[in-house]
Amino acid sequence: MTLPSDKALVPFVSVDNMMRLIHHIGIEDMLRDLAAYIEDDFKRWEQFDKTPRVASHSDVGVIELMPTSDGEAYGFKYVNGHPKNTSEGLQTVTAFGLLADVYTGYPVLLTEMTILTALRTAATSAMVAKHLAPKGADTMAMIGNGAQSEFQSLAMKAICGLKSVRLYDKDPAATSKCAANLAGTGLKVVSCKTPEEAIEGAQILTTCTADKQYATILSDNMVGAGVHINAIGGDCPGKTELAKGILDRSEVFVEFPPQTRIEGEIQQMGEDFPVTEMWQVITGEKQGRTDARQITLFDSVGFAIEDFSALRYIRDRIKGTGFFFELDMLADPDDPRDLFGMVGRAKT
Ligand code: NAD
Repeated sequence: MTLPSDKALVPFVSVDNMMRLIHHIGIEDMLRDLAAYIEDDFKRWEQFDKTPRVASHSDVGVIELMPTSDGEAYGFKYVNGHPKNTSEGLQTVTAFGLLADVYTGYPVLLTEMTILTALRTAATSAMVAKHLAPKGADTMAMIGNGAQSEFQSLAMKAICGLKSVRLYDKDPAATSKCAANLAGTGLKVVSCKTPEEAIEGAQILTTCTADKQYATILSDNMVGAGVHINAIGGDCPGKTELAKGILDRSEVFVEFPPQTRIEGEIQQMGEDFPVTEMWQVITGEKQGRTDARQITLFDSVGFAIEDFSALRYIRDRIKGTGFFFELDMLADPDDPRDLFGMVGRAKT
């Protein structure tokens, strides 16, 4: 990897510039591109350093670092999860991330990742649904209509050909917001009053709620045969969305088992509960959906490689554009041993 300039300035993508980049590329194209980058990295899964994310928990939320490297580039994301934040006018999830050159150790990109996380989470969900959802799936129940929900819906449209989304949130204002944002996108949007109504006729069930507890967003009797469940919101110890009985009846697919066993829906099950790693389905080593009546369940928690793919994508796409500033964040004296002299010369 080459540095963006010989001055060791680091490109920085602000929230404003990320939004400009999305409009420049087009959100559905960007979701498709991101899904392709993520799928490429899932195909070379074994090249990556992998570790469960490093989490610092408090009573009200969690702050996490998510690092990985493919040997050429190193990336990490800082991300929080604070379900109580929305009631204080703040985001549940905020993030920023960094990509560095493994050869020099120098950063080559710093970027906002609150919006990018919503995009990469949605792109991952849809990339996985493309492999696991039943043939012809065109209707999704979207339970939890917060910050992630429109991105989830649009990614399923762009990547899986979703035609209709059925919205439910315990807060009707969130459903109204989501429906208004999705108007004009080409999706048929149906606002529902109960989760039972939302799942009627849906082949893909997405749960994307935020609550720091063992919640039951889908109970066992709500889930019939032949659906794909995209479980997004259970992503922390003590924070799940699905009744245990659903897991017993499903074929469960995960990102990185050591992290998912701590954070995902399967934290409710024993250590040896069988799961399939999604990268193995993508490389063809393991089977995905094997019959139309099976329940497939993507127990998504969000893994560092997806952020790495997103960082790679942003690094590639900002080249030759004005969608970044250059940050002077690396002290880089002409004589590398004369850091002190450089500080001294700055006095004048
Ligand atoms: P958000 O706070 O913006 O929205 C959550 C919504 O869930 C709110 O509108 C809330 O009213 C609703 N909700 C809470 N309990 C509910 C219930 N019992 N029934 C119906 N609706 C309910 O949060 P967000 O940014 O959209 O994130 C949603 C969840 O997804 C969070 O838990 C977050 O940690 C998780 N997340 C996961 C990934 C991943 O990669 N798997 C990535 C990003 C976010």
